[in-house]
Amino acid sequence: MELIFLGTSSGVPTKTRNVYSFAFKYINSKSWYMVDCGEGTQHQLLKTNLSLNNLSAVFITHVHGDHLYGLPGLLASATMYGREEPLKIIGPNAVKEYIESTKELTQTRFSYEIEFINIDEKNKLEVNDFNVDIVELSHRVSSFGFCFTEKDITQKLDVKKLEKNGIPKGPLWGKIQSGEDIFVDGKQLKSCDYLLKRREPRKVIVAGDNDNPLLLKKHINSLDVLVHEATYTNDIAEDKGEIPQHCSAKKIASFSKENSIPNLILTHFSPRYQEKDKGNGLKIDDIKEEGLMNYNGNLILANDFDRFILNAKGEVVKT
Ligand SMILES: [Zn+2]
Ligand SMILES: [Zn+2]
Repeated sequence: MELIFLGTSSGVPTKTRNVYSFAFKYINSKSWYMVDCGEGTQHQLLKTNLSLNNLSAVFITHVHGDHLYGLPGLLASATMYGREEPLKIIGPNAVKEYIESTKELTQTRFSYEIEFINIDEKNKLEVNDFNVDIVELSHRVSSFGFCFTEKDITQKLDVKKLEKNGIPKGPLWGKIQSGEDIFVDGKQLKSCDYLLKRREPRKVIVAGDNDNPLLLKKHINSLDVLVHEATYTNDIAEDKGEIPQHCSAKKIASFSKENSIPNLILTHFSPRYQEKDKGNGLKIDDIKEEGLMNYNGNLILANDFDRFILNAKGEVVKT
């Protein structure tokens, strides 16, 4: 699986980071999925090889502008590109209202059907290749996380054993792959003896804005990757008072350590953290340092256009 960061800033864009958007896909597949669509996401897409015609579904975590304002423009552009395939939009009901009212006010027509899926009262759904658990989070408005688990894991053939035992490549291999027992020289051979051990389905959580990681607890069993906001360092989060609305790097890193999450990708950084200290005494490395101090797994701070491969072993590697 490929994980692609289209925008990694919170609130407003900066010179190096656009507002929030994330995409993922299977490496050899053209179709792809988007989570959130901050303003300007369609400009970011122009710098990638992702096409609006191959977008399978859009997931929206919550209705804040830095996660949503890019969607009406992106949908209108898909019409300009001649999209015909229906598109699923999965999010709170307010997303449907926002899109439909914008469409009506601006007298826009789409060349394709939109299927809205309201997640306000849903905790599960299936989208093509994935089972999706919907997790309610804690933020100023209703906010959700999406837990994607691979649905179909094709069991691979034990090619070495097949070749060693002289089973000819062709229809017999196909039968074994589909779980059928075969006969060779009158002898029955069991398909399970020629299939490699089934690997665990990969599991990724992409969370919306959230000040309480414990709400993810129910879904972190066998989790490979957590993509979560770390808007601030802890000192700034504490200045925000009782309810900060967002996570600090310390809070999400400590939670990930306590729950042995192997890969943690932080994103959605406050614009007050730039690459270099711009006179406010803060820089993006402060978030990294705080994360590293509180977590011992594979910690990544995402930048715009970063691409990572989540391989079959559950490792995350930058491409
Ligand atoms: Zn946000
Ligand atoms: Zn928000």
